[in-house]
Amino acid sequence: MSSDKTPVAPAANFIRNIVERDLEQGTYASRRWNGTPGDASHQAAGEPDPAKIRTRFPPEPNGYLHIGHAKSICLNFGLARDYGGVCHMRFDDTNPEKEEQEYVDSIKETIKWLGFGWDAFDQSHLYFASNYFDFMYRAAEALINNGHAYVDQQSAEDMRLNRGTLTEPGKDSPWRNRPAAESLQLFREMRDGKHADGSMVLRAKIDMASPNINLRDPAIYRIKRAHHHNTGDKWCIYPMYTFAHPLEDALEQITHSICTLEFEDQRPFYDWVLERLAEAGLLANPLPKQYEFSRLNLTYVVLSKRKLIELVENKHVDGWDDPRLPTLAGARRRGYTPEGFRLFADRIGVSKSDSWIEYTILEDCMRETLNESAERRIAVLDPIKLVISNYPENQEEDCFAPNHPLHPELGKRVVPLSRELWIEREDFMETPVKGYFRLFPENMVRLRYGYVVKCTGFDKDADGSVSTVYCEYLPDTKSGTPGADSVKVKGNIHWVSVNHAHAAEIRLYDRLFKEAHPGTGDRNYLDDINPDSVQIITAQLEPALKDAQPEERFQFERHGYFIVDKKDSQAGAPVFNRTVTLRDHWHK
Ligand code: ATP
Ligand code: MG
Repeated sequence: MSSDKTPVAPAANFIRNIVERDLEQGTYASRRWNGTPGDASHQAAGEPDPAKIRTRFPPEPNGYLHIGHAKSICLNFGLARDYGGVCHMRFDDTNPEKEEQEYVDSIKETIKWLGFGWDAFDQSHLYFASNYFDFMYRAAEALINNGHAYVDQQSAEDMRLNRGTLTEPGKDSPWRNRPAAESLQLFREMRDGKHADGSMVLRAKIDMASPNINLRDPAIYRIKRAHHHNTGDKWCIYPMYTFAHPLEDALEQITHSICTLEFEDQRPFYDWVLERLAEAGLLANPLPKQYEFSRLNLTYVVLSKRKLIELVENKHVDGWDDPRLPTLAGARRRGYTPEGFRLFADRIGVSKSDSWIEYTILEDCMRETLNESAERRIAVLDPIKLVISNYPENQEEDCFAPNHPLHPELGKRVVPLSRELWIEREDFMETPVKGYFRLFPENMVRLRYGYVVKCTGFDKDADGSVSTVYCEYLPDTKSGTPGADSVKVKGNIHWVSVNHAHAAEIRLYDRLFKEAHPGTGDRNYLDDINPDSVQIITAQLEPALKDAQPEERFQFERHGYFIVDKKDSQAGAPVFNRTVTLRDHWHK
């Protein structure tokens, strides 16, 4: 059953307001698109852009996506979907050495899993920033020729000293006013491998006294002899990220370039670069605009790449797709749903204020989507035996359990009943506490979808724990028969027949951290790891679960939502991961 629960119109937010204003005012109506990214003359030869807006999701392929990225993905792809646009899938692979195909593949797969894609207007919009190196180089030469960039030969140390501070202006480099022709020649020599790594850089010529340090002649190209996965050894100079990023946006005709708040101070440089290149005729107007929103911070979770790497490498978790990790690969294995992530993104919205989002909000989104979509099954997680003394040995009968209470059209399945059943250890108490309505001596409960039974006794192991409970059933009280209501009981417990059940491994996952803000104050986040974040048990399952397929999701009645692990399950022997309990047990 598929259920797409993402509301058609998510709540308004400041970015949606900007997009709507731009559409109303026709800010981008004059843009043209020539089928591929390109400079001003390339786009000018194209048709009016069929996409009303263009956004992009631009990960560096140097790690796995996490729940924070899901916010950005839902935002960028969601805007494109809702406003007749397209969101470009762009790998920001301008930094040599770091990227790997494994990450490219995993990122693409994860975005599709979240329910998004980059095919629109009869073409695919999958781009690699490294394909723009030629243009970036050309743009740098144009800046030099127009007096907007120079080659600086100061040592890295001097450059740092001369940058100034928040309260003091910087000092001009002695090379700042060298003739453009000299910078051009040196820049070409940098490109041709005539100078050592780090011996000189190309810098934008803006203002060493600017109150915004990012405008104090930022470096835009550096020498680095490094092999690039796409361009090989063609280049020994590479653009800096802050120079490359606006160019990538402009070549792709992006309208709204949305990033996280730490780039706010870079926005003036973003605009400066694009304006200079538009003046030079290299980039098409109207230019992209950058907007910033606050990144996701989730309680009980760490999202920093460095920490995630540490958790994996030091084996605090079992690989990048460990179901306890906040990676999307982990969340998927845990059983979190794409619908749940989209609902979560809409529910938390976007803003410019940094805040922590409660983890329960994410869990509730998963519960809501799973409640709707997951079929119900029965599993006894901590089994003890229940013997129905007055039920004939060798007899069995069918009981009928609905697959989904909200969807009667999904029908019922057979759950066989016999003399010996597995029930939950916690559904029996020798001496009941106040308010306990389940099994205890002389009390009656309903075996869900079966009969009312009355507890007649119990046995204990040598260690004093209850091993078997005895009861007698009331033959006229079977669920679904006219006599079902003749005896009123307060308790209703689930069970599986011992002869029909099959045992399966179940991993009961819980939060990876026991503190809401891991590692804050003077604590190390590693000390905040929850020692009980997973418990592996053998449970007794109803027969219908034996053939559950990888990634099938179920609600185990009274317990929570579970998914068949896609890695460790075998045909006929599924292993289950607990996605989330039915109710939050962290905030009692
Ligand atoms: P790095 O530290 O390597 O830059 P990153 O987390 O920024 O890592 P990117 O691959 O650069 O990873 O991220 C791709 C996009 O995801 C960026 O546009 C970034 O703003 C966004 N993003 C990353 N983390 C979050 C977060 N916690 N909340 C919202 N958006 C995020
Ligand atoms: Mg980044």
